[in-house]
Amino acid sequence: VKLYDAVVVGGASVGLSTALALGQSERRVLLIEKESARAPSSSPAGDSKTFALSYASAKIYSALGIWETLADVATPIKHVHVTMQGQFGSCRLSHNDLKTEVLGYVVAAQALEDSLTHALKACPTVEVLRSASIVQAELSLNEWHMQVQVDQQTLPLSSRLLIASDGANSALRAAHYIDCDDLEYGHCGIMVNLKMKAMPEGVALERFLEKGAIALLPWQEGWATCVWTLDEHTARDLMSQNDEIFMAHCQQALGRQLGSIISIGKRYVFPLRMKLAKAQSGARFLLMGNAAHSLHPIAAQGLNLSLRDMWQLKKQVDLSSRVDMGDPEFIATYVNARKQDQNRIIFATDKIARFMASDRLSEKWRAMGITLFDSFFPLKNRFTRYSMGLG
Ligand SMILES: Cc1cc2nc3c(=O)[nH]c(=O)nc-3n(C[C@H](O)[C@H](O)[C@H](O)COP(=O)(O)OP(=O)(O)OC[C@H]3O[C@@H](n4cnc5c(N)ncnc54)[C@H](O)[C@@H]3O)c2cc1C
Repeated sequence: VKLYDAVVVGGASVGLSTALALGQSERRVLLIEKESARAPSSSPAGDSKTFALSYASAKIYSALGIWETLADVATPIKHVHVTMQGQFGSCRLSHNDLKTEVLGYVVAAQALEDSLTHALKACPTVEVLRSASIVQAELSLNEWHMQVQVDQQTLPLSSRLLIASDGANSALRAAHYIDCDDLEYGHCGIMVNLKMKAMPEGVALERFLEKGAIALLPWQEGWATCVWTLDEHTARDLMSQNDEIFMAHCQQALGRQLGSIISIGKRYVFPLRMKLAKAQSGARFLLMGNAAHSLHPIAAQGLNLSLRDMWQLKKQVDLSSRVDMGDPEFIATYVNARKQDQNRIIFATDKIARFMASDRLSEKWRAMGITLFDSFFPLKNRFTRYSMGLG
């Protein structure tokens, strides 16, 4: 029976990144994904899901050797304008304030997963099983004994550590009886790519609305990604409108600061919530990515935070070639090391989400808050550094 250092369950952005990082540290890793392989980059630009990657995340991918390929399809964000609809208050975050080349980048989720999948093929210590799932798992003193079903076959294998990166509704988390705190904000998000005319290069927009907020991230070939948060009733109504009417409402919410909308891609709607696991570990067991903390997307921090989690794991592994990753001390060190950063990002994201969903504050006060935020440069600087993952 084959013995692995880690079995990673869930092969999306976090699982793929974790498997690659551990594989590059010469750990024997098995990645198990229940879905079959997708054709590379099959979505048209208008329908693609994108990620805003922080400066720190780009550095992590650079250290893993995949930034060379991603850089060609990554759009830099150099400035962020934060404004309030109908008010003068505004706040500008710029890479110049932080003396970095950029604040972050926008990349298509599929381009990222394709690059990670490609890099994994060149990693001799990592095996990937698709259309596969664990059908039985039992823990003995020092390792997991599992049965994995793939292609009508059942494979026995063992592993020192089991990593669940199987998403916000993690079945492995449930199997370990780990509960979650579920925070509902009563708002929905609409995600849509917009083809823009005359959008300035490298500028992103975050605009607070009477209720909710709208964000626009620059992307490739004139496309920009828009995430619009609003109450459920309005979201449902907007989703039922034709493209023309939707575009008119969207343009009104965005204002004209970043140009005009020419056309739109497919619209996706999703409930806005945070789901936080009450514990992130068990015996020879770790939760990562959305399985550990599924964040409200308003601050675009979910994947960025998970990559810093993954980087801590890699740093610990690199300390010794003989370290047992399932050892309770190894796991406790990881969980403790990640507490501060995770709590800070979760706290900030929750505050922003509540602020947006609230209609108790008058707009003037909120606008003033933004202007004050702009004046208190050191505070802004610190906030920007956190969201860039520079801590
Ligand atoms: C609208 C929106 C916009 C966002 N934008 C950003 C952003 O700009 N920047 C950012 O940093 N974050 C962003 N996020 C957060 C980001 O999407 C998540 O942090 C990230 O996708 C988490 O990935 P994951 O791999 O943990 O989980 P998932 O993407 O949910 O993947 C889970 C994987 O596990 C597999 N799986 C499930 N069950 C099993 C099983 N039993 N066996 C095997 N495989 C299984 C699934 O098929 C899937 O492939 C956004 C989120 C949303 C909702």
